[in-house]
Amino acid sequence: MQLILDEDQQMIAQTALDFVDEHSPVARFRELRDSGAELGYSADLYREMAGLGWTGIPFDEKVGGAGMGFAELVLIVEALGRKLAPEPFLGGVTMGGSALALGGNEALVSAWLPKVVDGSKVVAFAHQEKNSRYDAYAIATRAEATEGGYRLTGEKVQVLDAVGADAVIVPARVAGESGDRDGITLFLVESGASGLSVTRQTRVDHRNAAIVSLDGVEVTGASVLGIEGQGADLIDAVLDRAICVLTAEMLGGMSEAFDLTVEYLKTREQFGVKIGSFQGLQHRAAEVFCEIELARSCVMAAARALDAGAPDATKLVSLAKAKCSDAYLLAANEGVQIFAGVGMTDEYDIGFYLKRARAAELTFGDSAFHRNRWAELGAY
Ligand SMILES: Cc1cc2nc3c(=O)[nH]c(=O)nc-3n(C[C@H](O)[C@H](O)[C@H](O)COP(=O)(O)OP(=O)(O)OC[C@H]3O[C@@H](n4cnc5c(N)ncnc54)[C@H](O)[C@@H]3O)c2cc1C
Repeated sequence: MQLILDEDQQMIAQTALDFVDEHSPVARFRELRDSGAELGYSADLYREMAGLGWTGIPFDEKVGGAGMGFAELVLIVEALGRKLAPEPFLGGVTMGGSALALGGNEALVSAWLPKVVDGSKVVAFAHQEKNSRYDAYAIATRAEATEGGYRLTGEKVQVLDAVGADAVIVPARVAGESGDRDGITLFLVESGASGLSVTRQTRVDHRNAAIVSLDGVEVTGASVLGIEGQGADLIDAVLDRAICVLTAEMLGGMSEAFDLTVEYLKTREQFGVKIGSFQGLQHRAAEVFCEIELARSCVMAAARALDAGAPDATKLVSLAKAKCSDAYLLAANEGVQIFAGVGMTDEYDIGFYLKRARAAELTFGDSAFHRNRWAELGAY
């Protein structure tokens, strides 16, 4: 497993860091939060990012993509995570885009994927339901067969990047009961469909999510992605990619939280000296540094395994999520502790990282869930 970046990857990473530094400082995230803007991100900046080719990185050149992979996409998302940029790379590019790319429906691919790639359309992915926690098959939403297709009824929650999305991919049950792996089919539902409503949810980290209600939404058979009744396979593949990309964002966030903390250690004076001169605090910083380095290796391993279609890719994705959940929380908690009282206040950015660490930890499974999945996949 190659654990360093090649020359092209170094260039992608540096370009992304420079762009995000210039166009998306944390102050922009703060402004977006304070304005309460419904969309939760900047459509203009997102289009600019798409213009740089970022939204097409993991997709085929035939649909306008760059034909690269997750080893490259994670570099972009890591840079976004450093400054908490909320543009829809997770829900839109990774989840919606991957579901289309892997769904095998050529008509839907040609109608939607080039637009996801050029940033003109956002397609969200709505797998989670109330009380489903981390069980991706806990789907109660029903798809009843009609003459020309299906009628969808149910409710999805915590749907990332669904506010303002042009379509939502909805897993629904054609057979079986919530929790069964069999009997799930994925449908693409266009926004504006009769019976579809999207209600914004405000998360603790001020990021965008939504409740998606389906009240007898009619779709045709042409809207099916993947194999009828076997949608769980596609959900698994999409979630593995989403978890990998989320860990990259977490890696960026924990790295920035650590940098902010080290800067504070080097400037804040107490008892007439910089507080970073105290060994007790140096030890705490050293521990965070080591955990971030380990997390970085795990994210790289997961991304490269996904690109290679390696048999242990899912296991490595879980390893990365478990490691990043713990490491981001550690980096953010230690940051707030070391900033001490002021770190608690809204004036300082460090608290944003703690909120993002908490929300990201609970998205797609916390570290206990992923340690367990890792063990089960290794037949422990
Ligand atoms: C919004 C807010 C709410 C608060 N609420 C409470 C409350 O409910 N109860 C309460 O008791 N206080 C509260 N405080 C006060 C807060 O606990 C103090 O700010 C705290 O004592 C830290 O002091 P400081 O900010 O001067 O940090 P500093 O003294 O600058 O310390 C910064 C960091 O360095 C560490 N440090 C400093 N010197 C050393 C050293 N020699 N060796 C090792 N580590 C060192 C500190 O432990 C801290 O982690 C609050 C403060 C704020 C701003």
